[in-house]
Amino acid sequence: MARVALVTGGTRGIGSAISRMLNEAGFKVAAVYHGNVEAAETFAKETGIKVFRWDVADFGACREGIERVTEELGPIEVLVNNAGITRDGTIHRMDYEDWEAVVHTNLTSCFNLARLVIDAMRQRGFGRIINIGSINGQAGQYGQVNYAAAKSGIHGFTKALAQEGAAKGITVNAIAPGYVDTDMVRAVPPPVLEKIIAGIPVGRLGRAEDIARGVLFLASDDADFITGSTLSINGGQHMY
Ligand code: NDP
Repeated sequence: MARVALVTGGTRGIGSAISRMLNEAGFKVAAVYHGNVEAAETFAKETGIKVFRWDVADFGACREGIERVTEELGPIEVLVNNAGITRDGTIHRMDYEDWEAVVHTNLTSCFNLARLVIDAMRQRGFGRIINIGSINGQAGQYGQVNYAAAKSGIHGFTKALAQEGAAKGITVNAIAPGYVDTDMVRAVPPPVLEKIIAGIPVGRLGRAEDIARGVLFLASDDADFITGSTLSINGGQHMY
């Protein structure tokens, strides 16, 4: 039986590549999006993957969404917490709303979704949770106290939940992408982006597929001895 995989932010950018790759590998995929209906409809038409619209920062909306996905596709065995946003600015210019939106969308969402799928995973004795962190959660970044804090939180969340899931066949891992060529990075001013690329030893931005291949591996049954780890996929930009 095909396993059911839920990918948040699964209709654009990195998430779209993850959804497509899991789908091609035989998973039944549900891709969650929030605001960009046009992109989601195009994605659904191109791939045949089911799309679901809700706000991952809202626990009640997540509960209803998970119920719908479970009814339509079956119990979720693979959860990819990928949805994320940025609201950059140095702290002396940052509004509380920019902090709140980024922390809730990037980090609280991981709690929301994991909390809502964990009981079924524990009952089945199988689960894969893959959280998308960031190089900027590992290294920090000027103008991103909100985003760096949220992404850094994801790495701690991953290690704690991995310890809770291990005895129940549930692995929990993070991927920390470097700069990947998506809408999020295309919003960075070109001179800043040039400097970033100059600092990547491999000499290019990442491709969404570079990240998706890591997710596919961690989602597989074969990855059952890997838990609580962070896979850095960043072209050598940050090593530690
Ligand atoms: P994009 O901006 O291209 O896509 C973001 C996706 O998340 C979209 O599908 C969007 O839906 C969805 N989303 C945003 N907010 C919500 C919400 N509240 N509820 C549900 N879905 C939501 O981002 P990327 O593909 O670039 O990034 C994907 C992940 O990778 C993020 O977590 C990001 O922080 C992380 N990352 C990205 C890097 C990069 O260089 N691109 C580097 C390191 C980490 P909609 O289409 O409806 O807006």
